[in-house]
Amino acid sequence: MHELAIAESILSVLKEHAKGKVNSVKLKIGEMSGVVPSALEFLFQIASEGTLAEGAALYIEHVPITARCDDCSKVFEIKDCCFECACCGGSNFKLITGRELFIEEIDVDERGFSNES
Ligand SMILES: [Zn+2]
Repeated sequence: MHELAIAESILSVLKEHAKGKVNSVKLKIGEMSGVVPSALEFLFQIASEGTLAEGAALYIEHVPITARCDDCSKVFEIKDCCFECACCGGSNFKLITGRELFIEEIDVDERGFSNES
């Protein structure tokens, strides 16, 4: 399952980087990634049991799909899989956002945190 693999990869990043209890994790997820947020939250909860991320809150920021038209150079948002320029109807464009899938921020309980910077 897509979301389970993502939940596990988030966890492995947390295990690697967090040196205390994880309070919350902020994620950026583009609409094109096809991730179902509720499924991801659920699986993350299960996968994090017994780890330093147990009980951590997941904050998911959605990134809409946007593209820049090659013909009229307008930037537009792609909705409902309508892959044409909202301005001129052209289909030559480059995706700008929407494929994101990464951890933006990890909030760790800093007690016992060794300052690395
Ligand atoms: Zn256009």
